[in-house]
Amino acid sequence: MPVPKRKLSRARIRSRAANKGLKPKAITSCNNCKVAIMPHQACDNCGFYKGVKIFETKMDRALKRGQSRNAKQNMKAKKQETNQEQE
Ligand SMILES: [Zn+2]
Repeated sequence: MPVPKRKLSRARIRSRAANKGLKPKAITSCNNCKVAIMPHQACDNCGFYKGVKIFETKMDRALKRGQSRNAKQNMKAKKQETNQEQE
């Protein structure tokens, strides 16, 4: 079994380790909303991946909730108006 002839100095070990493992992160932009994203991952901002809507974002849910609330409020207002007209 081959064995190293000499002990590696701390400096040699550390200088080799200094160049290990650090790579710049690849960044691409979302095709739908142009936000910077990691490649091969769905966009957190709009929920799109390769031009297809994959999941509902927090903003989407908030908008939906707002629309349903507005619809309910409008219904209530209409009911109150009709009740007032009848009286
Ligand atoms: Zn996006």
